[in-house]
Amino acid sequence: MNLLYQSTRSNTAPITASQAILKGLAEDGGLFVPESIPALKVSLKELSNMTYQQTAYEVMKLFFTDFTEEELKSCISNAYDEKFDTTEIAPLKEAGGFYYLELFHGSTIAFKDMALSILPHLLTTAAKKNQVTDEIVILTATSGDTGKAALAGFAEVPGTKIIVFYPKDGVSPIQEKQMVTQKGDNTYVVGIDGNFDDAQNGVKAMFNNKALAESLKAKGYVFSSANSINIGRLVPQIVYYVYAYASLLRKGVIAEGEKINVSVPTGNFGNILAAYFAKEMGVPLNKLVCASNENKVLFDFFDTGIYNRKREFILTSSPSMDILISSNLERLLYLAAGRDSEKTLALMNGLSKEGEYVITPEMKANMDGITGGFATEAQTAETIKAVYEKTGYVLDTHTAVGASVYERYKEESSDNTKVIIASTASPYKFTRSVMEAIDPKYGSLGDFELVDELSRISGVSVPAAIEEIRSAKVLHDRVCKTEEMQEVVEGILK
Ligand SMILES: *Cc1c(COP(=O)(O)O)cnc(C)c1O
Repeated sequence: MNLLYQSTRSNTAPITASQAILKGLAEDGGLFVPESIPALKVSLKELSNMTYQQTAYEVMKLFFTDFTEEELKSCISNAYDEKFDTTEIAPLKEAGGFYYLELFHGSTIAFKDMALSILPHLLTTAAKKNQVTDEIVILTATSGDTGKAALAGFAEVPGTKIIVFYPKDGVSPIQEKQMVTQKGDNTYVVGIDGNFDDAQNGVKAMFNNKALAESLKAKGYVFSSANSINIGRLVPQIVYYVYAYASLLRKGVIAEGEKINVSVPTGNFGNILAAYFAKEMGVPLNKLVCASNENKVLFDFFDTGIYNRKREFILTSSPSMDILISSNLERLLYLAAGRDSEKTLALMNGLSKEGEYVITPEMKANMDGITGGFATEAQTAETIKAVYEKTGYVLDTHTAVGASVYERYKEESSDNTKVIIASTASPYKFTRSVMEAIDPKYGSLGDFELVDELSRISGVSVPAAIEEIRSAKVLHDRVCKTEEMQEVVEGILK
């Protein structure tokens, strides 16, 4: 049976998975959602004996039904290979009673690699399947991690170009260095004078600009998206929740069918939405904890049912979560409204015109499996320090938000269910904030001195991704104003 994809904003004819991957965003501005969420066909017991790649196939084949077995297996084996520094791909580490699902063993040491290492393969396969001969231009807004992971995934991929926009003053020094040193003739990196939401809005506006699409089409280009709104990113992210549950089963930590909780440091709501999908597929997950930093728009939303983006945008030590417009939440709204696209469209119009929307009590009730929480900068730093001092394990700033929020949830609820904390970045990506949280005395050291010191105190060797940029040359120095993003793109695609 072919599983088709529907826009969240209208009831136009549904399309295949490969078409949805190619388009990224629906023409009406909506996000693609599968017409139903498939149930796992194999038991978790069977899955507990499978490799990451085998698990990926069991999950993805249910969603990407118009890919052949051979195509899908080839995408999977090209993605989850030696680019990852462990054969487990997504290992679990226990520290202080929590199970950290380390999603940062790919080439750019953040969880974005989990999906962006496979997206280029899914996309080029999808292009072939649909007889697309135009060059695919990946247009991406990044809060820091997506950009580098997408650049790494698409660099030198024939038939593609990738253009990344990032907030010039809103990413960590290591994140910026990683991006501006990216090699590959088909890669373009542009800093903008706005924040992540500005970058994301600029990219969305280009996607929705029909005149621009036509003029590019005439030049042999077609846009696609590597942002987490692409279904080709969401689905690969479901895999690691299935794999993590099966790993706990294999290790004898949980019994078959035992429910566990998951805490996810959240920004654009992609990662936690994947956990939600895993739960709907039959993985015994109980509470999903949506952890925010001081940009706590999602906490307020789950608390009150009101989404209000009219607030100050705060730059924090967890920049990949500095977001006030959580794009993927639209998919949850659509599902919680009983797949009502009219309702979803009205809410999204409210967000863009008034800066806020209110959901119905019924919709709110349909979301009660998700609990929001947030951590202040001080709480995040305290958690990094406390976990390090108690266990020797060093958390990055984003993961620390997930752990900090979960600690308080546990205290307040007395819920003693075992928990997986999605560990979304290596501490090496945010070395300065991490080391200063452990001890303020580190403030005086340089970026790479800190890297070496982190290695010394944690006993974890410096990842290749960091070694590479120590001496790498800056290859990209484009900057522009938010209003100039389209001009920049047209300039690149002359
Ligand atoms: C992107 C990112 C997040 C947020 O993930 P979403 O899917 O956008 O919610 C959290 N932590 C890190 C390190 C990230 O790169």
